[in-house]
Amino acid sequence: MTPGAILVRDVTTAGPEETEALGARLGRAARGGELLGLVGDLGAGKTCLVRGLAVGLEADPDVVHSPTFVIATEYRGGRMPLHHVDLYRCDPPLVDTAFLREALYGPGVAAVEWFERLLPDVGDEFLLVTLRTGAGDSRAIRLEAHGERHAAWLHAAVTKDD
Ligand code: ADP
Ligand code: MG
Repeated sequence: MTPGAILVRDVTTAGPEETEALGARLGRAARGGELLGLVGDLGAGKTCLVRGLAVGLEADPDVVHSPTFVIATEYRGGRMPLHHVDLYRCDPPLVDTAFLREALYGPGVAAVEWFERLLPDVGDEFLLVTLRTGAGDSRAIRLEAHGERHAAWLHAAVTKDD
């Protein structure tokens, strides 16, 4: 458990569909103003989870992909905007731009891949999701809520360990 986390859930998924379904549960439970921080190696399933998030927000999941040169993309068309940020090629100083702040703290939901590049400068309200590759197609996914609002979100989306 990371310092400051107030609610933790561990989930194991057996394949990409289950990781997407987890993202969809989070999307359905989102009310606006959520910040989802994704940590995990290349291929761990971060983008897969964001695709599910889009499903849960009733946006088009097919437009979600790992951006190559784009740092932040805004998907419209769902219940609220989804900001998808990928910091893989981002130098830490870029993080402090107004543009990124708007993506992170603007209306809607923000999902940030390689979130560890932002820590510890993101404040105290976020949901940290760490994905680890296991045997076969399994992924061990830990969700750690920081702040009451994000704990309520996690609780609403994942009410039991599974
Ligand atoms: P990342 O964004 O972390 O680099 P992606 O979501 O783009 O990862 O890719 C994950 C890859 O792993 C996909 O090819 C997906 O089909 C595969 N995969 C296999 N098992 C799982 C799982 N349980 N959850 C998520 N992705 C999985
Ligand atoms: Mg990705």
